[in-house]
Amino acid sequence: MKSFLIDENGYYGEFGGAYIPEILHQCVEELQNTYLKVMQSDSFRQEYEQLLRDYVGRPSPLYHAKRLSEKYGYKIYLKREDLNHTGSHKINNTIGQILLARRMGKKRIIAETGAGQHGVATATVCALMDMECVVYMGQTDVERQVVNVEKMNMLGATVIPVTSGNMTLKDATNEAIRDWCCHPSDTFYIIGSVVGPHPYPDMVSKLQSVISQEIKKQLLEQEGREHPDYLIACVGGGSNAAGTIYHFIDDMRTQIILAEAGGKGVETGMTAATITLGKTGIIHGTRTYVIQNEDGQIEEPYSISAGLDYPGIGPIHANLAVKNRATVIPVNDDEAIEAAYELTKLEGIIPALESAHAVGVLNKLSLTPDAVIVLTISGRGDKDINTYLDRI
Ligand SMILES: *Cc1c(COP(=O)(O)O)cnc(C)c1O
Repeated sequence: MKSFLIDENGYYGEFGGAYIPEILHQCVEELQNTYLKVMQSDSFRQEYEQLLRDYVGRPSPLYHAKRLSEKYGYKIYLKREDLNHTGSHKINNTIGQILLARRMGKKRIIAETGAGQHGVATATVCALMDMECVVYMGQTDVERQVVNVEKMNMLGATVIPVTSGNMTLKDATNEAIRDWCCHPSDTFYIIGSVVGPHPYPDMVSKLQSVISQEIKKQLLEQEGREHPDYLIACVGGGSNAAGTIYHFIDDMRTQIILAEAGGKGVETGMTAATITLGKTGIIHGTRTYVIQNEDGQIEEPYSISAGLDYPGIGPIHANLAVKNRATVIPVNDDEAIEAAYELTKLEGIIPALESAHAVGVLNKLSLTPDAVIVLTISGRGDKDINTYLDRI
């Protein structure tokens, strides 16, 4: 059987690759030739693992959610990425990428951000490592995620609001790539998800794979076996999902369920359900599913959740979907909000709006009773409190 992990050419089945402008060839090729060597070196592993433990607070707990389990009749464990420093899984990736950037001699860090979580995680590691940091963020997101903008400012990053398109994540990513094209030799682009040209999808998957590595160990301790029956995660670009499934991806005993943002409903046009609606195309340097019109123009996505508001999807997930290795379920805005209130009431955990989409699929499943589920809570809901309170 072929693996669902990346092949030697940088593809997942027909998806992936590196479709980039000429000016970036040299620096992307340098990264392709360097990343595995550095990430496998003892010095990198030591520094990365020590920071994950002492700075991020890993391992994150695997928590048996008893009241939630009782309600649905399954055995539900929550992987608590919300308890990481800076409040989500994003820091697992930014710590790894900045260590790589330093080893490659880069002086300047750029990043894109949607909800601001990746921007904050990048600004945080730049403060930690004393590096210059520029974050591109859509003007719409700057307005709906004010606290994260303030945090980035306090951390010493320069936040540049982007006013093209509908001023969200896609547009911020365009601007970051434009900046990178102007400064390819001294700048390292820290991408926030399993998107972009090869090697980013694989590099970010590997940096996030600490999540599934821990799940195996924790499940063995608590459940007596390493593999769950089901893994559930939300997908924006797909990095918390990739990390959640990484070490189970070729193990057919575990089924994979991905929650994407239905927005106001997949049939309304106001949606970010890329896998459900998308057709194959190229976005931000990778071949994957893209929400596009008949002329191949990328359509403006919509989700109440800034972190899921993206018209593409990591190529790893496009391949899982087309090969039926993963089941993809759209969860609408109102269903996510309801799920967030339910988790808060039953377990005292306020999830990020993005993570609430993963919780929202529980309602839509009919699995065998007592199925063992691991559901990743990718982040905490502090940044979304106003949205939650406005909706009640
Ligand atoms: C950014 C973000 C996401 C979406 O990104 P993925 O790459 O799909 O994980 C999901 N949850 C939270 C809390 C986020 O901050």
